[in-house]
Amino acid sequence: MAKIKVKNPIVEMDGDEMTRIIWALIKEKLILPYVDVDLKYFDLGVKHRDDTDDKVTLEAAKAIEQYGVGVKCATITPDDDRINEYKLKKAWPSPNGQIRSYLDGTVFRKPITVKNIKPAVRSWKKPIIVGRHAYGDIYKAQELVVTVPGRAELVFTTDAEGNHGETRVVVHEFKGPGVLMGMHNTDSSIRSFAKACINYALSEKVDLWFAAKDTISKKYDTRFKNIFASEIVEAMDELNKAGISYRYLLIDDAVAQVMKHEGGILWAMKNYDGDVFSDMIAAGFGSLGMMTSVLVSPNGKFEFEAAHGTVKRHYYKHLAGEETSTNSVASIFAWTGALKKRGELDETKDVVDFGEQLEKAVLDCIEEGKVTKDLIPLMDNPPKKHLNTMEFIDAVGKKLQASIK
Ligand code: NAP
Ligand code: MG
Repeated sequence: MAKIKVKNPIVEMDGDEMTRIIWALIKEKLILPYVDVDLKYFDLGVKHRDDTDDKVTLEAAKAIEQYGVGVKCATITPDDDRINEYKLKKAWPSPNGQIRSYLDGTVFRKPITVKNIKPAVRSWKKPIIVGRHAYGDIYKAQELVVTVPGRAELVFTTDAEGNHGETRVVVHEFKGPGVLMGMHNTDSSIRSFAKACINYALSEKVDLWFAAKDTISKKYDTRFKNIFASEIVEAMDELNKAGISYRYLLIDDAVAQVMKHEGGILWAMKNYDGDVFSDMIAAGFGSLGMMTSVLVSPNGKFEFEAAHGTVKRHYYKHLAGEETSTNSVASIFAWTGALKKRGELDETKDVVDFGEQLEKAVLDCIEEGKVTKDLIPLMDNPPKKHLNTMEFIDAVGKKLQASIK
């Protein structure tokens, strides 16, 4: 059988621990036997990041910018324990955070749904994708504990040429102890976020919701609402053509409506709301092993990965020679996501078709009860026995092969 030719390169970023093991198996058994693809390989395993003083992470980010499509394995974000464990020079920052800030990207989390695993919320029939603005607000705030009476003010000093004015607003006259916080965002970051959400809604062909609290936050959240609206106006023709509707909702209204909705939407949120509700949506749909994540930049560059980490506990079992049953579905879907996007950009239908065939092979396996251990408690009619890490990938490989012949 001739391999399917992928026209342009895909940037591949290797990672750590159990996901690194799964990564190699997926490539060997499910990807490379079928497609001829120029993979620009970057080893983001923690040891190699350390050896290169983390330069490799920036090189990978640049390559995604250049080629437009990347696929990334989960990586360790080192803390003190990891510095000791891997004898690292220092606690290098999160690769995801660095790539995200280089590409000025927004992260979208999307659950993979199957017939025999029902979401916790009965009305959810299709995926609910969460788009979280990943810059500013309380994540870049300054805070103070107030211990004595006094006045808290917001002071803005302009440094614009010939205009050294000052604007002051009283926040509160403290009569006793309390707390205080100052936070910010920028128009350009909010605009990038809105653009990335619109791009992703177009790419997934789903309706777009944006929710905030402008009734209470009349300047801050209203700014978000207005910038979002102006980007929507810009994209109106394209959205109309694709049959995609846009709604602005109050965040509390959105939460209530999501619990009665059938899904099939992109729900865009500010940083904190996205942090909180992405975990709610993930738990509602089931296992972390079934949640994918895509980073989309405002100029249309895409990086695909699993939403989970390196599954450290399973890796230690693996090292001890014990059997593991780690779910590889989200990692496989990172690959199919990258291949399908590459095929779409290159206009090579056979590459898109292959991505879809591989996804179907995965879903068919699960729907036939060939699953890893994490899915057993979520299933309607669980099988008596689960598959181990390798057996599941092999089962998918068999299905794929049968479907291709
Ligand atoms: P994790 O890898 O997300 O795993 C936490 C637990 O969730 C696992 O122990 C396992 O539960 C379950 N789980 C997650 N993915 C699974 C899968 N594919 N199949 C089956 N079960 C799965 O988080 P962690 O082990 O706490 O973190 C390990 C490392 O990952 C950390 O160093 C962190 O920095 C890194 N991390 C990286 C990323 C990323 O690169 N995107 C994201 C998050 C964390 P049981 O143990 O109960 O089976
Ligand atoms: Mg969270």
